[in-house]
Amino acid sequence: MEQTLRYKRVLLKLSGEALMGENGYGIDMAVVSRIAREIAGAVAMGAEVCIVVGGGNIFRGLAGAAQGMDRANADYMGMLATVMNALALQNALANEEVPARVLSAIPMSTVCEPYAWARAKRHMEKGRVLIFAAGTGNPFFTTDTTAALRAAEMGCDALLKGTSVDGVYSSDPKTDPDAERYDRLTYLDVLTRDLKIMDASAIALARDNKISIIVFSIQTPGALSAVLKGEGRCTVVSG
Ligand code: UDP
Repeated sequence: MEQTLRYKRVLLKLSGEALMGENGYGIDMAVVSRIAREIAGAVAMGAEVCIVVGGGNIFRGLAGAAQGMDRANADYMGMLATVMNALALQNALANEEVPARVLSAIPMSTVCEPYAWARAKRHMEKGRVLIFAAGTGNPFFTTDTTAALRAAEMGCDALLKGTSVDGVYSSDPKTDPDAERYDRLTYLDVLTRDLKIMDASAIALARDNKISIIVFSIQTPGALSAVLKGEGRCTVVSG
């Protein structure tokens, strides 16, 4: 049922690690299916959902470079890893009867559609979930920066960063019982205090385009829907 939403068009950033469950590597389809159900719930509420998925559960360019690979080559491997995650998510969404399209910044037309802004807009107008794969298509970037870029391109109201904790804390809440959760932060707070939410270029891009970043737990059932209504436990980063 359609509801009044605080944020209607959103970009959801999922790190690769969010898809690997307890395995420590790769894709746990049970976890992907659970996330797909959360997204299906958001779509049923009337939200327009775009997704950028990372690849850190499979391969990170920096890890390849640390083993002596050329950084650009290693980054291309990282971008290919995001395509695998995107296809898994598209499959899980199809199982929930949510139409979704994978749009890759690196063209691979037998696998998925190449990313093109106008085409992405058209898919969105037709009510499809968009899954942006292969990052920006350029080495030396991250999928966090991709998330801020695509959020700006698609005219999203907010960038939702789905993590394993329900917001930004003064220290690691998993190890420090006195860790304090922030309800609100400014972009400048995040940059000057080096709070590890997203990399600095992603924060700067979000700030320049006045896109709020909302950090919440994608592992908590119902948290995504709550955030869309402007409720629930989260940290909002804005001007
Ligand atoms: N990557 C890249 N350019 C981009 C986006 C990603 O080169 O525009 C590569 C980079 O090697 C990165 C990997 O893809 O390590 C996976 O992305 P990321 O580390 O952002 O994934 P996450 O941490 O969100 O799982």
